[in-house]
Amino acid sequence: MKITQINVYQVDLPYSGGVYTLSGGREYRSFDATFVQIETDAGIDGWGESTPFGSTYIAAHALGARAGIAEIAPHLIGLDPRHVDRINEAMDNALVGHNHAKTPIDVACWDAFGKSVGMPVCDLLGGRTDVALPIISSIYTGTPEEMRQRVSDHRAKGYTAHSLKVGDDPALDAARLAGAMADKQPGEFFLVDANGGMTVESALRMIRLLPDGLDFVLEAPCATWRECKSLKARTDIPILWDELADSDEAVIQLIAEDAADGIGLKISKNGGLTKGRRQRDICIAAGYTMSVQETTGSDIAFAAIVHLGQTVPEKYLRCVLESRDMVAVTTADGDFPISNGTVQAPTAPGLGITPRLDVMGDPIATYS
Ligand SMILES: [Mg+2]
Repeated sequence: MKITQINVYQVDLPYSGGVYTLSGGREYRSFDATFVQIETDAGIDGWGESTPFGSTYIAAHALGARAGIAEIAPHLIGLDPRHVDRINEAMDNALVGHNHAKTPIDVACWDAFGKSVGMPVCDLLGGRTDVALPIISSIYTGTPEEMRQRVSDHRAKGYTAHSLKVGDDPALDAARLAGAMADKQPGEFFLVDANGGMTVESALRMIRLLPDGLDFVLEAPCATWRECKSLKARTDIPILWDELADSDEAVIQLIAEDAADGIGLKISKNGGLTKGRRQRDICIAAGYTMSVQETTGSDIAFAAIVHLGQTVPEKYLRCVLESRDMVAVTTADGDFPISNGTVQAPTAPGLGITPRLDVMGDPIATYS
């Protein structure tokens, strides 16, 4: 089976909650999504998605995704999409870095691979667990009462996992955590995600201001490697890395330096399903917790999250992100129902999705 053509589509995905706010005054109203369809000489196609979280989250942005695809795509015509390591080698030889540009191509290859052999992607990635994957909410910054209400709203929808965004004034952040966790139910867990917005000083001050006994994991407290390492050595709160854990090398270095207790494994940040599979295995070997996520994204991004998450043993899986909940557009159909705050991968071949071609519109670029 050979890749004969690569088509690129662009869709705007408005944020479903109006305005999403992060530490440092960052605001998001809509996300610019890029979709890739690979066509093959076997008549089988595959789809992937790359939706950066704006251009102020990590070193990724939508125009960059599409410019990167333009660099890479001509080098892939004639290659076998099932040879995913060779595809990634060709992509890395054509363009250094730019994981977010490589991811939709990589995911599309896995989708086509699965369709070609009649197997779901999770089984190709090593085989499905029987774990019902807990989905996590994404509670953007606000007043303590607003954040408590947003947690309550998600709890009412069945969510048992919540990601609280913080990273501003230490006293305000401490009050947010106390408020948002005030109604914590048995079995619920909380990630507290500063998206790099804290200094070591502000993080230590916030921690001192917290009520006793709050059970949470701190995620991406600071913007730099030095700060996160310093904080890790000075608190007993478990720490997951996210933005700074963006490659095989970074994950290996984290383990070598005992700098984290786990990572956010975001598929486009970490380089796609092929590299995500490798980082999953490195994390398992290190006893790291994983939160399988995406920078954001619609149905195709969510499908990739679920298939990778479905291969992580329960002991190491913190949660998966329900990215569909964050965007107001449906880009594909598939069997991914949420039940009791959990999801499981479908058994259909490939990703198990059918793109909505009317939403995709015409390709904005084609390579053959
Ligand atoms: Mg995060």
